[in-house]
Amino acid sequence: MATGWGSLLQDEQQLEELARQAVDRALAEGVLLRTSQAPSSSHVVSYAPFTLFPSPVPSALLEQAYAVQADFNLLVDAVSQNAVFLEQTLSSTIKRDSFTARLFDIHKQVLKEGIAQTVFLGLNRSDYMFQCNPDGSAALKQIEINTVSASFGGLASRTPAVHRHVLSVLGKTKEAAKILFNNPSKGLAMGIAKAWELYGSANAQVLLIAQEKERNIFDQRAIENELLARNIHVIRRRFEDVSEKGSLDQDRRLFMDGREIAVVYFRDGYMPGHYSLQNWEARLLLERSCAVKCPDIATQLAGTKKVQQELSRVGVLESFLPGQPEAVARLRATFAGLYSLDLGEEGDQAITKAIAAPSCFVLKPQREGGGNNLYGEEMVQALERLKDSEERASYILMEKIEPEPFRNCLLRPGSPARVIQCISELGIFGVYVREGKTLVMNKHVGHLLRTKAIEHADGGVAAGVAVLDNPYPV
Ligand code: ADP
Ligand code: MG
Repeated sequence: MATGWGSLLQDEQQLEELARQAVDRALAEGVLLRTSQAPSSSHVVSYAPFTLFPSPVPSALLEQAYAVQADFNLLVDAVSQNAVFLEQTLSSTIKRDSFTARLFDIHKQVLKEGIAQTVFLGLNRSDYMFQCNPDGSAALKQIEINTVSASFGGLASRTPAVHRHVLSVLGKTKEAAKILFNNPSKGLAMGIAKAWELYGSANAQVLLIAQEKERNIFDQRAIENELLARNIHVIRRRFEDVSEKGSLDQDRRLFMDGREIAVVYFRDGYMPGHYSLQNWEARLLLERSCAVKCPDIATQLAGTKKVQQELSRVGVLESFLPGQPEAVARLRATFAGLYSLDLGEEGDQAITKAIAAPSCFVLKPQREGGGNNLYGEEMVQALERLKDSEERASYILMEKIEPEPFRNCLLRPGSPARVIQCISELGIFGVYVREGKTLVMNKHVGHLLRTKAIEHADGGVAAGVAVLDNPYPV
């Protein structure tokens, strides 16, 4: 992939001056994070790390990723409604993974009592890398789909201005004009607004479940601001607040501090560390309520890595999308090799293959948030240890995607600008709203490009590995 920035990346003095300008523009645009020293306070903030230049992305792959997003929305929604599939798929995982088991328990409890709401809201982000084929072409391969707390839609709305600024300073007006318009926060807010409207109570509010120590608050605020502009009020509360002050009336309407809640939007609750016993109780209360949940617990389960792996089996997509062979083909084209590690011959074969060629595989537990996957020698050691234990079923094995590296300059607060070999991960934001059996909204609402140094196998922006970026279509 030709980057076009080659010679610019060699002039150190120019890079430093450009970096100063870029950082000031990022701060002015609101590309912000709270600091790790004071994650509960906005008194002193800094810029979110980003690349000095936009990174090359083949336009055909960008188009392909956008074109398949409505299919992924449909698929996630269909999986979330299939309790039998979820139970079968996750049965071996939940024996060994207590976090997934806990989520699953709540799912079962809610099903038993009966789901109180007919409106469902999905805000997700499907992530991809660009596999470099032997002939030099690139293929779009899905890494995962995030069905809970999919983040950076807010900050990604603000980074295009920064890259346009950098290219304009260099007199590259034509190149600057190629940076795509992007406003996921608006689209995500439109989904929440639609669900709020369908809930049908003018005074009801949106409850955003957040952590107190939240560095990425400005990303969330971007969505809150869009909602307020539509006169929809958002209150931010922790799980702890819900357990102290949340309640259901006899119709299971949710009240928080006396205010009726139409939509619960989770920006917390996707990792084991987010839950105390009290928080699990709060999650159950929210799930039982007739507020629209984003996501409901079944949709969160539909986003697990185990479900992703099972969906890649022959015939499974067809069963979820009957009579839609084009959608099935679009989805399948983005799947990388995915392998079950359940006890049995199939799992044994996968383990043997991975141990024989460690650089071709990634071992993934049922975790979100980055930094949990195992690669190379570490993966081999883990597989050797897990080989004969039931615990291996709580992992999946995935083909490792190898994109072609390119050079870019990463900017991080407190570090000198560094020109390094990078790879990118593209995310497409999807929004859907279903009322009963009717899909009333199904669309893509923007993208996120994250770029990291090739030496980091794992991790996103929040994990401190990747930085924000924009696709430069080539
Ligand atoms: P998480 O839920 O922690 O975000 P991911 O599946 O997205 O889990 O993996 C985290 C990171 O690991 C990704 O952002 C990507 O950089 C890297 N990664 C994951 N799967 C693969 C893969 N199959 N090939 C190459 N890199 C991968
Ligand atoms: Mg991820």
